[in-house]
Amino acid sequence: MNAVELIRLKRDGRSLSDEQIEELIAGYTRGDVPDYQMSAFLMASFLNGFSASESAALTKAMLHSGEVLDLSDIPGLKVDKHSTGGVGDKVSLILAPIVAACGVLVPMISGRGLGHTGGTLDKLESIPGFRTDLTIEQYRGQLAELGIVLIGQTAEIAPADKLLYALRDVTATVEFIPFIAASIMSKKLAEGIDALVLDVKCGSGAFMKTTEQAMELAEALVAIGEEAGTPTVALLTDMESPMGNAIGNWPEVMETVECLGGAENPDVMEVTYELAAEMIVLGEKAKGIEEARQMAQDAIHSGRALKLFRDLVTAQGGHADSLDDPSQRLAEAKEYTVRYSGTDKGIVKQLNAFNCGLSAIALGAGRETKEDVVDPLAGIILARKPGDVVNPGDTLASLYSSDPERFEEAENILSGAFSYAQIGDQKSALKPERLLNRYSNGSWMHQPDTLSV
Ligand code: URA
Repeated sequence: MNAVELIRLKRDGRSLSDEQIEELIAGYTRGDVPDYQMSAFLMASFLNGFSASESAALTKAMLHSGEVLDLSDIPGLKVDKHSTGGVGDKVSLILAPIVAACGVLVPMISGRGLGHTGGTLDKLESIPGFRTDLTIEQYRGQLAELGIVLIGQTAEIAPADKLLYALRDVTATVEFIPFIAASIMSKKLAEGIDALVLDVKCGSGAFMKTTEQAMELAEALVAIGEEAGTPTVALLTDMESPMGNAIGNWPEVMETVECLGGAENPDVMEVTYELAAEMIVLGEKAKGIEEARQMAQDAIHSGRALKLFRDLVTAQGGHADSLDDPSQRLAEAKEYTVRYSGTDKGIVKQLNAFNCGLSAIALGAGRETKEDVVDPLAGIILARKPGDVVNPGDTLASLYSSDPERFEEAENILSGAFSYAQIGDQKSALKPERLLNRYSNGSWMHQPDTLSV
């Protein structure tokens, strides 16, 4: 294989054969193709497009870059959920223990922060001692024993995604449907699941900015799942504004613990319960969504989901006592208050999730280069969200970072994320709906022209 020739073909808008894609991915995974050639290939493909057959070949090559696990010797259906990436999206951390507490096995392989979005692995690793690098034997053992395991891509499972994910993050080649679909489905199909639920985000804080793009991504993802014989359902959810109040790794663990403890947080929990219910139905523990939603709520209110989360943390080497009062650990970071500088009372009309994500990165919660180490405590706690009233001088958000020099840039970015309406503006006073649509078996629940994003 001549990597330069393959780059040239993509640069000139030509299509590659299945074999060429397979060789390129295998060469990159072995370390024979260097990052600079792969970066050029990614950008040429991003700019000139990928055909349906190239996309299928890429997914297959990434899936088979490592082991495809067979968990059929562990009794019970295994169901996972994956989000296409958002800001403040801590749903996986809350939902996995809910679903496992309802008797469905949850083996989850997640990613790190990507672009302006956060990643489940970085959030988990902000818990002191938590290890996401289990061996496959440990992964199987914990799933059989506890019913839940959360790890990252490994050298054995979808290693090509682990490498490409990090490279795409720093070469501005993330927001491309064939890459996102191959990345998500290669690692999900390799983890040995029986069914999959996808949370496809759309809006400023998502990689897909419009409902049309998000629907196209959902259809591509579900088609790959079904082609592989894995029942797959996608929910389309709004990511115009950040989810919940916390953005950043430890701040989001804090909000997770609150939600698992039963705190009222409809902005996070409405979507969490809906995704959990889909998983419980696919895991055949409930006959319908209504019954499954009730089971998910019981798992929270009985305290079983929180207990399972703590057991999971302990099983993976984490210090569960750090979850007793997570705000104590946040107090180790420096804090800075962002205030509303307007002179009139108003309503928060919009809060641009993309800029919130960038502000969190400026605080140290994400990576700007592959080598960057994230600051686990860095992040934002929002005090005002769309629909809330603001008075002059009110706190809009608290910023946290181990490095106070980062506050100025983060504040500038975050202040630009807020826009305001006058008091009395009925439309702005409404809280945005998160759940937009559902796709399964080739059909959408709502037609696109009924959606507002
Ligand atoms: N999530 C993934 O796992 N991969 C992507 O490319 C985007 C979101």
